[in-house]
Amino acid sequence: MDLIEGMPGFAWFAAADGTVENINSNAARYTGKTVDELKNIGWAEALHPDDMQPVLRAWSHSLETGEAYDSECRFRHADGTYRWFRNSARPIHDHAGHIVRWYGLALDIDDRKQTEEALQSREQSLLVLLDNVPGMISTADANGQRDYANRRMLDYTGLELGAATNLGMLGIIHPDDRDATRSKWLHCVETGEAYSDTRRLRRYDGRYRWCHARMEPRFDEHGRIVRWYGLMIDVDDHKRAEVAVRDSERQLRLLLETLPVEIWRAQPDGQLTYINQRMARNAGLDHNDLAAADQRTAIHPDDVHVAERRWAHARQTGDFFASLHRIRRFDGSYHWYQAFGEPLRDENEQIVHWYGIQIDVDDQVRLEESLRSIRMDLAHATQLATIAELSASIAHEINQPLAAIVANGYACQRWLSAASPNLDRARITAERIVRDGDAAAAIVSRVRALFKRSPLVTTGMDLNEIIIEVHRIMLSEVLNMDMRIEMDLDDLLPAVVVDRVQMQQVLVNLVRNGLEAMTTLSCQPRCLMIRSKLQNTDQIRVDVCDHGQGLTDVEKVFEPFFTTKKSGMGMGLAICRSIIEAHQGRLWATLNNDGGATFSFILPISTTEPE
Ligand code: ADP
Repeated sequence: MDLIEGMPGFAWFAAADGTVENINSNAARYTGKTVDELKNIGWAEALHPDDMQPVLRAWSHSLETGEAYDSECRFRHADGTYRWFRNSARPIHDHAGHIVRWYGLALDIDDRKQTEEALQSREQSLLVLLDNVPGMISTADANGQRDYANRRMLDYTGLELGAATNLGMLGIIHPDDRDATRSKWLHCVETGEAYSDTRRLRRYDGRYRWCHARMEPRFDEHGRIVRWYGLMIDVDDHKRAEVAVRDSERQLRLLLETLPVEIWRAQPDGQLTYINQRMARNAGLDHNDLAAADQRTAIHPDDVHVAERRWAHARQTGDFFASLHRIRRFDGSYHWYQAFGEPLRDENEQIVHWYGIQIDVDDQVRLEESLRSIRMDLAHATQLATIAELSASIAHEINQPLAAIVANGYACQRWLSAASPNLDRARITAERIVRDGDAAAAIVSRVRALFKRSPLVTTGMDLNEIIIEVHRIMLSEVLNMDMRIEMDLDDLLPAVVVDRVQMQQVLVNLVRNGLEAMTTLSCQPRCLMIRSKLQNTDQIRVDVCDHGQGLTDVEKVFEPFFTTKKSGMGMGLAICRSIIEAHQGRLWATLNNDGGATFSFILPISTTEPE
């Protein structure tokens, strides 16, 4: 009796049939029942209703079989709360092996049970977490044997836990990626390096998809691998999008390289950032050597000024860039190129890049130039023929009244010098002389009317543009003569109201005269300079300066029909002067100190139209 009183928990003993014969006071104190109540059915009444059936079943089973009794159940405390107990009972046998008595003990395990449950619930929530993170998680032991895979990984691969947790995983890697994956993983396991790879994995539905896997080892304090922890993510959509982007980029690049044009891109400051293969090839440059590809250095010296001016203007204003100029090719020859550039702007309208193309138009330009020169020769020849024809017909027209005047003059003389002058007849012939004189004067007026200048067609123009245009028109002639034209143009010229065609005519005439004056020069520089500048704030001045033989008389050259050339007409400068004067300007010639002549004109800057 003292023994069970001294035991911790509820100590009791029962008869062979299970009737409780005694129970200690711990049980009575806990349940709030008397020992007698407990000895009866009172102990069972203190059980939690949910535990009653299993406990009674287990106790009956032990009574029937004599097997040891073990159970866990909740007993109600006197205050109505329940606590967990661990029950066990063992039978005592007599010599014949019959059960004499059962000794039992119920120990309060509630605290331990609570801890266990808390642990279990934490483990549970960790498992839930692992199964629900948006990634496939697995672990492997120090030898690289996979020993855990989360639900997502099992669902994704369609593998059972067993198959997924050993190297059976290798079987679902795409055959083309398998060997590389295997040796990479083995290498990591051996060296302890982190593993990272993107390979194709067969999904549960049999489709291969790109997955990115990372495995990182955890080391113990001796630097030995303890475990591997891994995360795998399906990156198939991303990878396919990447492949599609790369593919379209490749297509675009192919297009850029196949188009029969040279393509470039530059920074807002003009620095090249890309040139296509064709451009590099034609210039004899390395496609990647953008520093060397600075095209300005390869532009023909005669065109570089204009091209740079236009390019700088486009960059300053953000306007479309267009220029026709010659570029040196890999073989040293110059080809004509038509270049265009257009800026790309960001959302704040800031220029991000310039995109441009340039097209080899050499054949067209040369053809055009030769046609133009043929046209000009023809026009010149036609002019000469027309003048010759015109002079013949003027001579013919005037000869008739002149012949009549002379005949009538003789007749008049005869009538007056006779012994008895016939004054009536003399008056009649004198009247005829006056009539024919009037007829000749009328012919001359008609001819003058024929040559009268056509009315001016004027617009506000940038004179520099006209100069640049004339430079272009004259280029083939300049090239043929092995000469150069240089320009020094004032960028800040205001617009001037002029007849564009007539201004061109003046400049072409002055330039051609200057070039022709230099043909006899054998030494350099056979260079003609065209200069424009603002003078006295209200005039634009243009000088065409050559290094030719110079002039003997700076005024005579402006007289009509003064020429020193075999096929010259001597009308060019006279016409130029009349055009400039019609624009309220002035044209004159001076001799250069260092040889050659300079023809200069000034035009007033006024908004009023010339007559
Ligand atoms: P053309 O060119 O038909 O002779 P122009 O009126 O244009 O007619 O020129 C008249 C003449 O003036 C030329 O024949 C030439 O003798 C002289 N002349 C014109 N420009 C120059 C020049 N830059 N240098 C030397 N002489 C010139």
